[in-house]
Amino acid sequence: MVPVNKLKSLLHSAGKRGASMADIARLKDPEMGTPAAALAALKAGNERFFSGRATRPELNANERRAQIIEQTPFATILACSDSRVPVEIVFDQGLGDLFIVRVAGHVCTPATLGSLEYAITELKCHLIVVMGHEGCGAVRAAMLPEAETAAQPDNIRHLLDAIRPSVSDVPPLVDEKSRMREAVVRHVLAQVEHVQASPVVAKAVADGRVAVVGCYYEIGSGAADFYGDEAVLADEPGG
Ligand SMILES: [Zn+2]
Repeated sequence: MVPVNKLKSLLHSAGKRGASMADIARLKDPEMGTPAAALAALKAGNERFFSGRATRPELNANERRAQIIEQTPFATILACSDSRVPVEIVFDQGLGDLFIVRVAGHVCTPATLGSLEYAITELKCHLIVVMGHEGCGAVRAAMLPEAETAAQPDNIRHLLDAIRPSVSDVPPLVDEKSRMREAVVRHVLAQVEHVQASPVVAKAVADGRVAVVGCYYEIGSGAADFYGDEAVLADEPGG
């Protein structure tokens, strides 16, 4: 967090630049203060997106200026780099709402995990989402026999090696689409476990400040299915 004195001077200068106090108050007082509220907001945003009612939230010039003070994202998401899965768009969120880590095949590495840890400790995000998607080329490539990927450049092989343990024993389903979904979901759940194993994340989860869920995004429909969401929503006061 920004020290109080520094924040006061930042607020003052942002005010001089034209940000209203209401703009600033909104930035400092995120509405999504619990894991359940953050998850509900993502679900509602995705429902708006896939049903053609997206609001595509943007900020006016004053609100953008107020964002200089600090960022207050309500969720952090580890997602694939795939161009068909732009995270803010599919959850109908705007500037400053989500802290997103994208890497092909949404793999947990020290860098991606460190980014998620930063989001929950410094930025006070209440929800971590690991998000896979339909038709993931990285997951599909990791399912090929190693002999077929041996000729790939070193860094690409390194990436595939990080995915392979999750998908090495996916059963041969009749329907290829179902088999691929099974592979992606297995990989998502393996990364969820990886995230949960971080001592930083585990402590935040034990304290009830943070929840970790998986997600499968279907490119064809635009719908996001969550895994582990029932337990999070059940914790909502009155929910
Ligand atoms: Zn992908």
